Amino acid sequence: MANIGFIGLGNMGGPMAINLVKAGHHVTVFDLSAAAITTLVNAGAKSASTAAQAVTGADFVISMLPAGKHVEGLYVTGEQPLFDHLDADTLVIDSSTIDAKTAKHVGSIAAERGIHFIDAPVSGGVGGAVAGTLSFMVGASESQFDRAKPLLDVMGKNIFHAGIQGSGQIAKACNNMLLAILMTGTSEALNMGVENGLDPKVLSEIMRLSSGGNWALEVYNPYPGVMPNAPASNDYQGGFQVDLMSKDLGLAMDLSEQSGSATPMGTKARDLFNAHRDKGNGGLDFSSIICSYQK
Ligand code: NAD
Repeated sequence: MANIGFIGLGNMGGPMAINLVKAGHHVTVFDLSAAAITTLVNAGAKSASTAAQAVTGADFVISMLPAGKHVEGLYVTGEQPLFDHLDADTLVIDSSTIDAKTAKHVGSIAAERGIHFIDAPVSGGVGGAVAGTLSFMVGASESQFDRAKPLLDVMGKNIFHAGIQGSGQIAKACNNMLLAILMTGTSEALNMGVENGLDPKVLSEIMRLSSGGNWALEVYNPYPGVMPNAPASNDYQGGFQVDLMSKDLGLAMDLSEQSGSATPMGTKARDLFNAHRDKGNGGLDFSSIICSYQK
């Protein structure tokens, strides 16, 4: 069983760390929130009073933080940069969703010190984190991927090797841009049908089983009452927040600028989600974008 330092015990990191404890690993945790640490200690983890203490002697370090500046701060530029506290050959798995540029930059600083740093952002939301069924998109060398996979298997179901360092973050940005486009398109079509007199359940079923079928219609219908377990039927509580979708679309737009790629649909989806967020809906599930279409 491995010695793991786990930093960032929020909505995602908390349940991911619990699954590692349940699998029998020795997990030492740190978060800025004392309550988050207590939850993990109650689940069988060991607490640390600083991030540096949590990673001392660890074979693996896993981080699950909000954004690139937190990841760079933790490992490189903060008061106690973790790269100063890690043994050479430690494997660091950063599962935060951050920009590919920062992931590559932090990875290259790690490499200079003989530390392995790989990007492994996830898809599947809080439900997937709790159930241990996340998808991981990994940017790493072949040998780094092979070393990380047994741990990722504990927290996820589909573990993809996207390519070299930074590739996991690029795959994640592409996927979430497509998800945003699918959700806005599905909302637009459903709303138009309902405003023309159709029953949302009947229209959803027609489109789900016809050529417009997609993930939103399969498992995440944005119209209230169509799927009892979807956030739409629970006042858009829980799920994946508009704030996080806006953040991910910002990362996708940065990427499209860097490569000069045409993303007219992604740009439109970004604008729609940002306008929805700016009206005070940042804390709602992202399927609430359908409300911005309703009269
Ligand atoms: P969250 O805000 O619930 O958790 C982040 C945690 O990091 C907090 O507990 C915070 O206290 C801690 N933290 C921040 N800076 C720290 C530091 N320097 N040291 C120690 N702890 C620190 O966020 P989340 O929902 O768990 O998301 C984490 C990452 O996963 C984000 O990058 C997000 O985009 C991504 N993600 C989230 C979801 C989702 O559905 N929530 C899905 C896929 C990916």
